[in-house]
Amino acid sequence: MSTLDPSSPLVLDTRELGRRAGSMKKLEFTVAAPADLGVGLIAVPPGSEIEIDARLESVIDGVLVSGTALLTIAGECSRCLEPLSFDTEVDMQELFEYPATDSRGREIKNGSDDEEQPKLDDDLLDLEPVIRDAVLLALPLAPLCQPDCAGLCITCGENLNDHPEHAHEEVDPRWASLAQLLELEDE
Ligand SMILES: [Zn+2]
Ligand SMILES: [Zn+2]
Repeated sequence: MSTLDPSSPLVLDTRELGRRAGSMKKLEFTVAAPADLGVGLIAVPPGSEIEIDARLESVIDGVLVSGTALLTIAGECSRCLEPLSFDTEVDMQELFEYPATDSRGREIKNGSDDEEQPKLDDDLLDLEPVIRDAVLLALPLAPLCQPDCAGLCITCGENLNDHPEHAHEEVDPRWASLAQLLELEDE
């Protein structure tokens, strides 16, 4: 029994490929984004469309998955905190190894070999972690609404993109008390 759910849209069946190195299958499909696809202020909105264009290739050690995922990334500008969203294409590549077998050719489910490398599970593979890794690599550390976003006024928080002329009258702190006195005299 596989631990993967074959009805999940991101679980792919590689049985058709057979285990003949060189056979290849192309897949194009659209899925709804799973939750938690991102970090902090920036993420793929859950339920938004992800267009997957993948290629499954049978190689000596397993099945090589490569391709692209076209998706939407949304979040907040790191300078002015306004909402932002953009479409981007991320590259996917992962080798899913055939599971280790014992001397009688039976699959060893929890083999002690390299845990890092994902394994085929009853000929199924899960694309979700591959997309997750690709998205994390593609997320900008400091997303910007526009490359030259002017950010917020450090004194009052005004959005400087909307008010490029915005400025405060600078008063030298040494003169501040004098200015106050002058104001009092004016009254
Ligand atoms: Zn901005
Ligand atoms: Zn200001």
